[in-house]
Amino acid sequence: MLEPAIHLLNRAKQEGYAVPALNFHNLEILQAIIETAEKEHSPVILQISPIYLEKIGRTAAAAMAREAAREAKIPVALHLDHSNSLEWIRWALAHGFTSVMLDASALPLTENIALARQTAELAHEHGATAEAELGHIGGVEDSRETGADPKKLLADPGEAAKLVQESGIDILAPAVGTAHGLYKFPPKIDFRLIEELAVALNIPLVLHGGSGISNDMVREAIRRGITKVNVGTELKVTWAKSMAETLINEGEPWKVAAKAREAIGRVVAQKILMCASVNRA
Ligand SMILES: [Zn+2]
Repeated sequence: MLEPAIHLLNRAKQEGYAVPALNFHNLEILQAIIETAEKEHSPVILQISPIYLEKIGRTAAAAMAREAAREAKIPVALHLDHSNSLEWIRWALAHGFTSVMLDASALPLTENIALARQTAELAHEHGATAEAELGHIGGVEDSRETGADPKKLLADPGEAAKLVQESGIDILAPAVGTAHGLYKFPPKIDFRLIEELAVALNIPLVLHGGSGISNDMVREAIRRGITKVNVGTELKVTWAKSMAETLINEGEPWKVAAKAREAIGRVVAQKILMCASVNRA
């Protein structure tokens, strides 16, 4: 069933686990996420960014995700990841997304707050959930180098409190030391900062850049107050590897897709285990 992300996240926050928020880039990845979440009885957040929606066809992509979520036997939220305009927020809400993120973290705080407030107002009109970002989560965002050293640009607790209070957003992605894409070196996550933010804000916090971090690090982040863990790159990499291996001997699309679904499903199961969301649906 399709639900607002905040329903899934509030329950996770109360019970001390996280909801995996997994990016889909095509039908196989989408199906692998839902099938595996059903098998593990885990709630799940399906997410996709505007950059990808543009590349694969936004109307069809939204429709397939929305319908798959509606048919699912577990709670599923459909989330717009890293959008950069209110036009995208309006579009997503009109097409069945139950959660939206406007990432204005590169702008000055007052502008970030103003956009977060408008995002929250639009989302709440549709019964949906609003996410904002604070600080700079570095690395690669959908193959676009965002540069900058994430260590130097962590979220400031005072700014975070002001952002949450003045905007009315439901969930916050604070920069706490992770980065997008795969890591060359293990990230230095500021666990104390997570805890400080969790206590001060008392809303679900989001960990971006969850590909390739150890389960122990993510478990510790959850223990300190993370409730949504974003993973995208690992699923994409698994898809590409499976396709490359299978296509050598097999040209039938559904058979190639079935192999990819199996491989991605194994990664999804690991992420569900990492988030401790097994049997929470
Ligand atoms: Zn992100």
